[in-house]
Amino acid sequence: VLNQSVSELGRDINVSFEFFPPNSPAMTSTLWESINRLKALDPKFVSVTYGANSGTRDLTHNIIKQIKHETGLIAAPHLTCIDANRQELKQIATDYWDNGIRNIVALRGDLPPGLNQPDMYAADLVGLLKEVNDFDISVAAYPEVHPEAKNAQADLLALKDKIDAGADRAISQFFFDTESFLRFRDRCAAVGIDKEIVPGILPVSNYKTLCKFSKLTNVKVPNWMHSQFEGLDNDQATRNLVGASIAIDQVKVLSREGVKDFHFYTLNRADLTYAICHTLGVRPK
Ligand code: FAD
Repeated sequence: VLNQSVSELGRDINVSFEFFPPNSPAMTSTLWESINRLKALDPKFVSVTYGANSGTRDLTHNIIKQIKHETGLIAAPHLTCIDANRQELKQIATDYWDNGIRNIVALRGDLPPGLNQPDMYAADLVGLLKEVNDFDISVAAYPEVHPEAKNAQADLLALKDKIDAGADRAISQFFFDTESFLRFRDRCAAVGIDKEIVPGILPVSNYKTLCKFSKLTNVKVPNWMHSQFEGLDNDQATRNLVGASIAIDQVKVLSREGVKDFHFYTLNRADLTYAICHTLGVRPK
C-alpha cells in the first residue's frame, strides 16, 4: 500500500539536485554523465556549490552557465558572502541576472580560521540579492542546529530572518534522524515560517567520510547506521545498496508526512539519487 501511494505521489513531487565543481577531467566527465542522466527526471532546478574561502569560485559561475545553455535546466549557483564584499557580490549577482540566471542558493559560508564576527550573515546576502533583482532564493536550514548557533531557538530565528528578507524556500542540511526533520518543520511553522523547508537527502556511499563530516556539521549519525555499514569498508557496491536503502526509507516516511519537495546531495553521482527518485515515483517524462 505504501509503495502504491508513493508512486502515485510521484506526480506532485519536485526534486532538485546539487552538484559540486569538478577539479579534474575525469571528474568533469562524471559530472556531465550524472547531469545528463538526472536531467530526464525533470528537476525543479539543479544547483552547484561554491567553495567559500577557496580559489575555485569561478568554476561555479562557468558550470552554471554551461548547464543552463547546454541542458536548458534551471541552474542555481550557490553564493557565499563570507569571502566577498558587497560590491563584489552585487557584481556577481548582476552578471548572473544578465546571463539569464534567476535562482540562487544564498549562504554565508563557514568562518575562516581567526574570524569570529562576520560582516554579513546569509540574511544580509538575501537582502542584497533582492536589491539587485527579483531572484528566486533558497537558503540553508539546520534541523539539528548549526554548529555555531547560540541555541536552537536563535538558529530558528536566524532562519526566519532569511525568509523575512525574501528567501523563497529553505533547503535543509542532511540528516538521518527523520523525526528530527519533522519536529524542525513543526517548529518553523510555529514561528511563522511559511515557506517550504525542503529536506536535503544525502545518499551515503562513503560511510567513513560521512562520520568525519557529520561531526563538523553537527549532524547525528544514529547507532543503527553504524551497524548497517559495519564490515563494509572495502565493499563499495554493498555500501551503495545500503546507502540507497536508508535514503529510500527516509524519503518514503517524509512523503507520507506530506513532503513534496526533495533536494538531493548527489556528490556528482547519479546512480543512488536516480534509484531513490524512482522509488518516490519520479520517472523520466
Ligand atoms: P547563516 O544563516 O548566516 O547562519 C550562520 C550562523 O550564524 C548560524 O549559527 C546562525 O544561527 C548564526 N546567525 C545568523 N544570523 C545571526 C545574527 N544576526 N547574529 C548572530 N548569529 C547569527 N558552504 C559553502 O561554502 N558553499 C556552498 O555552496 C554551501 N552550500 C550549502 C548548501 C546547503 C543546503 C547547506 C545546508 C549548507 C551549505 N553550505 C555551503 C554550508 C554553509 O555555508 C555553512 O553551514 C555556514 O557555516 C553557514 O551558512 P548559512 O548560510 O546557514 O549562514
